[in-house]
Amino acid sequence: MKKLDMMYEGKAKKVYRTDDPERLIVEYKDDATAFNGEKRGTISGKGVVNNRMSNHFMRLLEEAGIPTHYVQELSDRETLVKAVSIFPLEVIVRNIAAGSFSKRYGVKEGTVFKKPTLEFCYKNDALGDPLINESHIYAMELAVPSELALIREYAYKINSFLKATLQQCGITLVDFKLEFGKTADGTVVLADEISPDTCRFWDAKTGEKLDKDRFRQDLGNVEGAYQEMARRLFG
Ligand code: UDP
Repeated sequence: MKKLDMMYEGKAKKVYRTDDPERLIVEYKDDATAFNGEKRGTISGKGVVNNRMSNHFMRLLEEAGIPTHYVQELSDRETLVKAVSIFPLEVIVRNIAAGSFSKRYGVKEGTVFKKPTLEFCYKNDALGDPLINESHIYAMELAVPSELALIREYAYKINSFLKATLQQCGITLVDFKLEFGKTADGTVVLADEISPDTCRFWDAKTGEKLDKDRFRQDLGNVEGAYQEMARRLFG
């Protein structure tokens, strides 16, 4: 597989074309942004951790019956993925109140929900990724009902699976964001990444934050948190 020109550069990843139109190469960077790009920085070694962790989870999810964009890990920062058209949706699953949920609804951070919640944001930086509901998704034709039904089903399954897997490593899965895409043949697959950039991970015993909130909230030892997550998963 030949790595060709860069197609897209995002906040945390670069995407390259390959000689196969159905395959892309994702390269994970150490760049970090928060608050819709207002806060910028570098988290040394983050790209390596995120690449490895995301691939690990995607492989496990595939085995558990969730289709993903993952094809093959190429290096410590590069992964071969299926080319997909991304649904412009951020799919957020929450088990415990934190972040924007706590802020928006005045619910204390750490409040444990009886059932996980699911919410959708419209992926649009210029608008600040606003919260939207199902009927808005149809009004804007961001997905059709059969696609959204699959996205919903997969999101809850991914939550159950990740929650259980992380619990075994002494990590509480607070919340996370998923993105889904459609392959050339119309299959809905999990895309983007699953990493400390896109999830909230708390130490199950101490409640210590082991994710990007350390960067967002200037809590210190940001690099250490990413390394600790890698250690918990891979020893
Ligand atoms: N999240 C993300 N990208 C975004 C917004 C949120 O990966 O653009 C993740 C975030 O890391 C957290 C979850 O989605 O694990 C819920 O985030 P929330 O809505 O609380 O927003 P935040 O407080 O991060 O602004």
